[in-house]
Amino acid sequence: MLRPLLVGNWKMNASREANSTLLAALREARGLACDLAVCPPTLFLGDVAAALLGSDVAWGAQDCSAHEPGAYTGETAAVMLKEFGCRYVITGHSERRTMHGETDQLVADKAKIALAHGLIPIVCVGETLSEREAGQTHAVVMRQLSVVIHTLGHCVSQIIVAYEPVWAIGTGLTATPEQAQEVHALLRTQLAAATAAAASMHLLYGGSMKPDNAAALLAQPDINGGLIGGAALKAADFLAIARAAQ
Ligand code: PEP
Repeated sequence: MLRPLLVGNWKMNASREANSTLLAALREARGLACDLAVCPPTLFLGDVAAALLGSDVAWGAQDCSAHEPGAYTGETAAVMLKEFGCRYVITGHSERRTMHGETDQLVADKAKIALAHGLIPIVCVGETLSEREAGQTHAVVMRQLSVVIHTLGHCVSQIIVAYEPVWAIGTGLTATPEQAQEVHALLRTQLAAATAAAASMHLLYGGSMKPDNAAALLAQPDINGGLIGGAALKAADFLAIARAAQ
């Protein structure tokens, strides 16, 4: 069994004061049977790196540019994230796909440049409610992942995939463990056609994961951790989910 990985996506929530309290609690957590990481807003990466250096908690970014450094106002290059000690970078979160018009190809290009700079991309895929209701869940997630597989080739084995049904993000609605497992198994089968390492890749579930539903989700055979939004902002909740992963 893979050691579970829980990644906190803080989205555009944070303050220097709140961060220091939260990170101190995470640093001090002992005896967890999972790995932890946090993805703060980019501006706080320096603070977070300083607070977590030497701890077991990793950190990452919520997005990166698909370009090398240059004239791209407002963007952050993967090489810069690496310089700030990031291990991970989220690409293709549904909020970026819907609010910033990110295409499947752009998401894949971001994953590619992240890998080129030694970061582990956490590539998000997931269907909207209308797509699920239209019976398109499998087609949508497979389309999103297929562009990543095509773009990365055999290097796809180095990524993490997060299945995040859009209708479950920040809504309090959660995919049932069976619904999530079904999609995770589908994604792993798709990955297995591209890489012999599919069985050892981390597939995370994201979408209103909370202390009270985490254990059942994390017990599914193809769910190897979580990408957690709201519940990652409170140390008590994030650590309760971490204990559910035991
Ligand atoms: C997310 O933003 O990736 C997420 C899963 O959010 P939440 O846990 O709040 O649904």
